[in-house]
Amino acid sequence: MDIINCGPLELLSPPKDCCQECAIKHHPSQPHNPRTFYYQYNFLIKHKRPATWADAMAHCNQQVKDKWLSKLKKLNIDVSSTNITGNIKSEQEVRDRDSIMNLSLFAKRKASPAREKT
Ligand SMILES: [Zn+2]
Repeated sequence: MDIINCGPLELLSPPKDCCQECAIKHHPSQPHNPRTFYYQYNFLIKHKRPATWADAMAHCNQQVKDKWLSKLKKLNIDVSSTNITGNIKSEQEVRDRDSIMNLSLFAKRKASPAREKT
């Protein structure tokens, strides 16, 4: 995989009540969400390579890592791969996978209103 040249890209800081690494609210003992745009680009700028799930959980204790490794394995996601979505093809699939992982990234998201034809 090619390294993306970030050039002059700058990210705005996340809200103060969110994790400053991945820009969502999560307990500090839990992995960062490597699927967020903020985490991916923040990591890329700092480390000059795309992030993986292994990177996102590097700060976790072994018990938390083992729990996530087990869940990610059930979802057939390679934690050392930069393909962090595991080839998710639809939002429903994301919800199904998130429910397995006790995440609710899309739970409060409402369906987009139908676009009016012009
Ligand atoms: Zn985080």
